[in-house]
Amino acid sequence: MKKIAVIHYDEIALKGGNRRLFEQVLVNNLATKIQEHGLPLRVHNQWGRIVVEQKTKEDVKWDEECDKVLLDICAKTPGVAVFGIGLCVDSTEESIMEGVADVAQYILKGRRVFNTFSIMATRTDKAFPSSSQEIAKRAGDVASDIFGDTKKVQLTHPELTIKVEILQTESYIYERLNGLSGLPVGSSGRAVALLSGGFDSPVATHMCAVRGVRPILMHFHSYPHTSRAAIEKVEAIAGVLRDVCGSITLVFVPLLPSQKEIAMTAPERLRVVLYRRLMVRAAEVWAQKHNARAIITGESVGQVASQTLENISAVAQATSLPILRPLSGMNKQEIINRAREIGTHDISVLPHDDTCTVFMPKHPETRAKLEDVLEAEKNYDSENLITEMLKKSEIIKL
Ligand code: ATP
Ligand code: MG
Repeated sequence: MKKIAVIHYDEIALKGGNRRLFEQVLVNNLATKIQEHGLPLRVHNQWGRIVVEQKTKEDVKWDEECDKVLLDICAKTPGVAVFGIGLCVDSTEESIMEGVADVAQYILKGRRVFNTFSIMATRTDKAFPSSSQEIAKRAGDVASDIFGDTKKVQLTHPELTIKVEILQTESYIYERLNGLSGLPVGSSGRAVALLSGGFDSPVATHMCAVRGVRPILMHFHSYPHTSRAAIEKVEAIAGVLRDVCGSITLVFVPLLPSQKEIAMTAPERLRVVLYRRLMVRAAEVWAQKHNARAIITGESVGQVASQTLENISAVAQATSLPILRPLSGMNKQEIINRAREIGTHDISVLPHDDTCTVFMPKHPETRAKLEDVLEAEKNYDSENLITEMLKKSEIIKL
């Protein structure tokens, strides 16, 4: 009997010929995080699932502190559909029932609050003497003895599920937890994510990461016109995304000189659209240099007066890269709830000064026409402004 963690992926399995590649990306992403946290564990692919076990030649033991870190890693790694810490035992009914008892003890020790539970048994070895249902029934009785009378077996929507997976020579028993699912970060390539301090763009970036996109974060600031705190806020948000994506690059780009130039030369109403067009162009230049194929924004149709289809279109036409807007059809409350779930809410909620409101016109254009925008851009040299801002940008690796 040995301690293990089991990780299942779902969508990756659908990828046909690419399956092995996707599995490898997920294993690597998990292994890197485990190593960064100094956990004495190793990760490998085993019969269509990922198994984590204690490294053999390691003094550090796999303790409860390790459990916490590992569970957090699993919960935040895209591509992980189901995971849990438990035991690997011999595939005999006796060993399995002993394992169930031990896992039930372990769950009680963790003082998890729950009233209902179920056992989910699967067997790949159809030669195993008992059926999955019979195993589940017996295991349920064993767990009930440990949990006591207050915890009831409930087959639909139980608060806790113990999974019993019977393979040919060994079986896994663990508490089944749900992960983010999706695809492992990096398996879909890279994109530049335009990250502000608000609620939306961190959620948009997270959603794309769960679709396998590795984001390169780019923030435009108006320091010293806006505060240092606004920059620190973005750094804190990037830290949360880093826990999900693994090592991440954050680029701070100074927008203020361009904003001054635009304020002096272009019609007031168009300022915000013109700032945005510079942002997506700078993002495109960065994307080309760093092998990224798209831009991510937190735009959501009609959320604010400036995000009309006309304005979104006027901004989009500044780049030939596709712009991913995963929040397009979400309303604000859904986005805020999502921000809570992913851990960016409490940072985004802090007050900050917004780069786009610097030299903000009293009546910003809500239906920008491309011809007016292009006319306004004739008054300044966009290419030069972009070259300059990128030259002065600050790159942080988190
Ligand atoms: P957010 O909550 O992400 O700030 P928002 O609802 O405030 O979004 P806008 O301010 O209109 O919306 O910005 C739309 C999108 O443009 C943002 O979601 C983000 O992707 C991008 N963006 C805005 N400001 C910046 C900035 N200073 N740096 C980088 N990207 C930005
Ligand atoms: Mg904003």
